[in-house]
Amino acid sequence: MFYRDGIVYRSSLLDGFDGIVHGFTSREGGVSTISHLASLNLTRNLGDTDGNVTANLGIFARAVSGDTMDASSLVTAHQIHSVRIRTVGPENRGEGSLRECGEDCDGFVTDRQGVMPVVRTADCVPILLCGTKADGSFVVAAVHAGWRGSAGGIAGAAVERMCELGCLRDTVKAAVGTHIRECCYEVRQDFIDAVSEMRDPGFAARHIRKSGSDGKYRADLCGMNVEILNGAGVDDSRIDISPFCTACDPDRFFSHRASGGKRGTMGAGIAIAGTGPADGCP
Ligand SMILES: [Zn+2]
Repeated sequence: MFYRDGIVYRSSLLDGFDGIVHGFTSREGGVSTISHLASLNLTRNLGDTDGNVTANLGIFARAVSGDTMDASSLVTAHQIHSVRIRTVGPENRGEGSLRECGEDCDGFVTDRQGVMPVVRTADCVPILLCGTKADGSFVVAAVHAGWRGSAGGIAGAAVERMCELGCLRDTVKAAVGTHIRECCYEVRQDFIDAVSEMRDPGFAARHIRKSGSDGKYRADLCGMNVEILNGAGVDDSRIDISPFCTACDPDRFFSHRASGGKRGTMGAGIAIAGTGPADGCP
């Protein structure tokens, strides 16, 4: 179940991992004042000052971590709607927050303390994952899944990478954050064709349907990701889903569709608690 804690939304499912911090933000609680970015915009070059975005990243990090981390612990990347996942560690701290981004990607995995992978969205699906190794230590992941990433299976790619790091598959739990839901995600035939080609026509038919009274097709990104996670061994009992829709509630959430593209971005971050190694000796 998702619940609100100050400016952060958390998943009670992920709270079950003692020693993990995680959270999803809305557009509330930041310092940006330009109307389409107000107030917790986390991306540069959308019209905000660098100072505002840096301040917002600090607010985000402190809120998600319960004041144990700041912007210097974050790692973000330029997202490219791929299925590319990067394994990161303390050496990546500050990428995209206090210094240049590293390599482009749409997801991160880590088994190290003191670094918080963050994905940014405004209608796309943010997914945070956690699982444990045989020795009880943690592996976490953050994923950005637009329709290309959802149909391409980035959520499953994240689970595979977690397992490569030693995570036990049957321990993995996933929290699917607030995104544009089927109610508001109208699509056309070209979208159905693209999803069919990327995955298969059956997958497209299961998640794109005429669900309203207007006879128009709508896509269910959440359903796509749940099917992908199920296929990677994460069953429904280990998946938590935000009940909200970005486009239904654009005053509370940044929504690309509802705003016509003029909007900021929200963040989703997860980290293994602890300070990790000191800077300079990762
Ligand atoms: Zn909606």
